[in-house]
Order: sequence, then C-alpha cells, then structure tokens
Amino acid sequence: MKIRRKTLFWKLYPSFLNISFISLLAIVMIALWSFKSFYYQERAADLEIRAKILMPEFARLIKAQKHQEIQQRSQVLGDVSSTRITIILPSGNVVGDNKKAPKTMDNHKSRPEIEQATFKGKGLSIRYGQTLSIDSMYFAMPIFEQNKIIGIIRTSTPLGTLQNALWSIYYKVSLGFFILIIITAFASWWMSKALVRPLEVIKVQAQKLAQGDFSSRVQLNSSDSLESEQLGQAFNEIAIQLNQRIEIILNQRNEQEAVFSSMVEGVIAVDSCEKVLRLNQAAYNILKITEENIEGIKFQEAIENIELHNLILFALQQDSPTKQEIVIHNDIEQVLLAQSAPLLDMHKNKCGTLVVFNDITKLKEFELQRKEFVANVSHELRTPLTAIQGLSETLMEFPDLVQEKRANFIGVIHTHSIRLESIIENLLTLSKIEKETEIDEIEFANESIDLALSNAIFLCKDKALKRSIGIRLNSAEDITFKHNSSLIEQAIINLLNNAIKYSDGHSEIKITVIKQENNINISIADQGNGIPKEHLSRLFERFYRVDKARSRKLGGTGLGLSIVKHIALAHNGTISVESEINKGSVFTLTLPFEKCV
Ligand code: ADP
Repeated sequence: MKIRRKTLFWKLYPSFLNISFISLLAIVMIALWSFKSFYYQERAADLEIRAKILMPEFARLIKAQKHQEIQQRSQVLGDVSSTRITIILPSGNVVGDNKKAPKTMDNHKSRPEIEQATFKGKGLSIRYGQTLSIDSMYFAMPIFEQNKIIGIIRTSTPLGTLQNALWSIYYKVSLGFFILIIITAFASWWMSKALVRPLEVIKVQAQKLAQGDFSSRVQLNSSDSLESEQLGQAFNEIAIQLNQRIEIILNQRNEQEAVFSSMVEGVIAVDSCEKVLRLNQAAYNILKITEENIEGIKFQEAIENIELHNLILFALQQDSPTKQEIVIHNDIEQVLLAQSAPLLDMHKNKCGTLVVFNDITKLKEFELQRKEFVANVSHELRTPLTAIQGLSETLMEFPDLVQEKRANFIGVIHTHSIRLESIIENLLTLSKIEKETEIDEIEFANESIDLALSNAIFLCKDKALKRSIGIRLNSAEDITFKHNSSLIEQAIINLLNNAIKYSDGHSEIKITVIKQENNINISIADQGNGIPKEHLSRLFERFYRVDKARSRKLGGTGLGLSIVKHIALAHNGTISVESEINKGSVFTLTLPFEKCV
C-alpha cells in the first residue's frame, strides 16, 4: 500500500500548533498553580495573624476557666473579623466556636490541624469540615502557659469564597488562553506558509525543469529568508548550467545525427547484449530492412540474417578494430566490407561494438568485369599478334619461299593487322564513349534522325548489295530531337553490319523508326540465323560472341554491340533484342526525347 506523504506545510503547521498549545498550556497551568498557592499562603498567613492577635485574650480566659465568656468572645470576635474562631482544650473538647454551639461539637483532638499544632507548634489544613459540612482552610496554634499547652486556638475560613475568586481568575485566564491559541494558530499558519513558500516555488521550478523547461527561473520575495534566496539563486544557476549543457549536447547530437544519416556507409551500433543501439539510414537501405525503429531490439530478432549475426558476434568478441569482407544473402547476394571497433563506456570498458560497412557488390562486379576484360583484351590481341609474329618470322627465316606462299602469308598478316586495328579502334571508341559519358562531354544537337539513318545506310549499302541483301527504311515522319548524330550513326552502322554479317544472302533488312510519346524506337530487323535464347542476356557484353569462329571469320571483334549499348546509355536510352532461330533478329534502340540534355 502506498503511504500518502504529508506536505511540508502539514508537517510544520501541526507541530507549531502543538508546541504552541503545550507551551501555552504549561505556562497557564504553572501560573494558575503559582497563583493558587500564593493565594492560599496569603490566606494561611492571614489566619495565623488573626490567631496570634486573638491568642492573648483567649489564653487569659482559658487560664481563668471562663468557658462561657470564651464562647461569647469567640462569637463577637469571629463575627467582627469574618473568621470562624474555635477554641479547643488540650483534651479536644471545644469550648468556643462562633459558628456552632460547642456542646454539640465532637472532640477535635484528631483534626489534622489540631494534631499538627499540638506536636509541631502550628497546623494548617485545607479540608472538608464535618461540623459545617463545607470545605475550609484551618489554622491552629497552641496556647501556652508556662510551657504547657492549655488550649488551642483555631481560625478558619470557608474555601467557597476563595474558590469563587479562583474560578473567576481561572475563567479569565482560560479565555485569554483560547484567544492566545487562536492567535498562535494564525501565527503558526502564517509562519508555516512563509517557510514553505520558497520551497513550493523551487519545487514548481524543479518540476518544470524535469519536464524540460529550462527557461523559467525561481522568483522569490524580498520577505523570504536569506537561505531561501541563496537556494533559489543556486537553483537558477543549476537551470542555466543545465540549459547550456543540454544545448551543447543537442548541437553535438544534431551534428552527429547529420553526419550519421548522411553517411553512405551503413553503421550499426550494438550493445554487449546484442541489442541494437543505433542504425543509420544507409544501414536500413543496404541491409534492406523494412521494419522501422529496431533500436532496442535484439539484433537477431530485428535482422534475420545469419551472416550478419555472425559478423556482429565476431565483432563483439574483438577488443581491437577489425576489417573483413562478408557475403550476405538478402534476397540477392551482397558483398559487404565491414569494419568494426569496440564501443567503450565512460570507464573505458567494452560495452558493445560499432560496425561500419560498405556494399561493395558493384565494386566486386566491376573488378570481375575488369579482370575478365583485361583477360579478353589480351586474348583477343594475342591471337592476331601471334599470327603476325609467326608468319613474319617465317618470311624472314625463309626468304626463298615460293611467291605464292609469300603472298598468302602477307595476305594473312594483312588480315590480322586489320583485325588488330579494328579491335584497337573499337576499344578506343568504347573507352572514349564511356569517358565522355562519365564526364558529360558528349555533345547533343537538335537534329533530324534521318541524317544518321541515311549516312549509316549509305555506308553499309555496298556491303549489303554484295550479298544481295536489301535495306528498307520505314520512317513515317521526320523526327528531330536532341542527340549526337555521329554516335547514333555509329550504332546503326554496327547493327546494320551485324544484320548483314549474320544474314544469308538474298534477304532484306528492315529499319523501322517509330515516334512514341517520349521516345523514338529504331529497330533493325534481319532475316538471318537468329540467336539462341540463352545468349541474349550476355550479347551486349564486351567480346561476347555466340559463335566465335564465325565472328572472327567475318571480321568481328565482339565489341560492336557493346559500343551500341554504350551509345544508347550515353543518350539515357536502351538497346534490346528479340530473336528467333532461322527467322532473324530484331535489335531495337530506344532513345528518349527529354533526357538528352
Ligand atoms: P561481332 O563483332 O562478333 O559481330 P558484336 O558485339 O557486334 O560482335 O556481336 C556479338 C555477337 O552477337 C556476334 O558475335 C553474333 O554472334 C551475335 N549477333 C550480333 N548481331 C546479330 C544478328 N543480327 N544476327 C545473329 N547474331 C548476331
């Protein structure tokens, strides 16, 4: 059960009230008691004086044994002095009393004041008087005759009047007491409030601070105590310091956040319990994580990838930075270059790991392509070079070779040198297009496509005619758009050359130009042998040939379609192929109107 705590006010106020009440009550009690005892003492002294004044007369009468006269004098003197006077013989018999006939009174020897007077010289008692049946104060003292007690004189007064006087005082004092209590209650209330007020103000401020409001300050009154003012000032100082520090932290955090989210590298921070601490956008993108806000979740629950999990586990075990390449299977195969470093807490203890990774899949592909390309180039160049070298060495070694053989060798050397030249030329064209595309140096002009088409047809016509192949152009309208005419001409020449090369004679090549909403389609359809389906996807790779021997025989380099592809890319366009064995192939160059800026 939750204990409901009291507020400071309700702790202070009742305490003040209790202390004030108890103190006041004690003061009043002591005062009343002192007053009462003083009053009683005064009365006792008064009774003693009266007894002493009366004593000589009654001593004389007792000595003379004039009991009758004793009674008369008691009455007279008692009434005059408003005092009850009782004269008692040592035997205890009463011989004089102004309030009751002595004969009717019992023996007084055992009365406390009489006993005290007999044995101690004087006696005082406050008690209920049986004779008059009222509370009275009695004073008694012995009457001596030659050191012998001959009687006892007792003066007494009823307590009624005394008590009435006391009750009136009690009443006034009680009234004063209650008025004082009410005043004290108000004063305690005010004091408690005054003491609690600065704390209340500081409490409200602390709550605002806790809610993130660092702008408001503690405002105290001039009437508040010095300590409260100092506390308020110290509190304001804390708020200012906190505000400044939080601003610095926020700025640093924002800077870090900006760096973190603008990084192209993926970053994952994981704690020692494998919970994800941070993950940047690049990491989400690279790892193709669809779930949002996976921070705080265990890594293997958030990202179900065994290779990544192993990487994180490995990184968590390391005490120094590591670097490794891993292959992950995330729908597709990805190669990541991951670098990890231990995360340290403020005491320099390892509390997790930070893994930074790059997706180097493309880089790896490029590297592979580059390796393949270098291997292909060396292979392609080596073949004609070896032939040229071998044949020229034979010619030099055997100068007497028959003319016919010599001519044959020279012819072959010439063919290979032309082939070498074509390969080098094509490679240079390819690298030029690639480089110019990369640095945006290709010039585009608003020209009619007819120019490129007619030039290409003109240049290929003879070759086609030689093989009885007709070239037909289907172009409904004159289409003008931004393009590089000589590059497009080159692409069409390459496509036409292939169509001629890989067609049997007596056929037709159809060039169709279609204008679409956003692009132009130029398709070159031949009636040649066609290309098997399995080769279609790789057809535009450098040096890729369906039939190497045939291509070489026909003077092909394996670079023609690759050049077409790069020309299309330079125009932000595409090249595609459809083919059917023994029916022919259709190559379509699609060039957008807009993109060629
Ligand atoms: P090549 O110089 O060998 O012709 P290309 O890059 O121009 O190189 O063509 C690549 C390969 O594609 C060719 O070797 C050939 O096998 C095939 N090819 C290209 N065009 C055609 C076509 N119109 N008909 C059939 N096969 C073709």
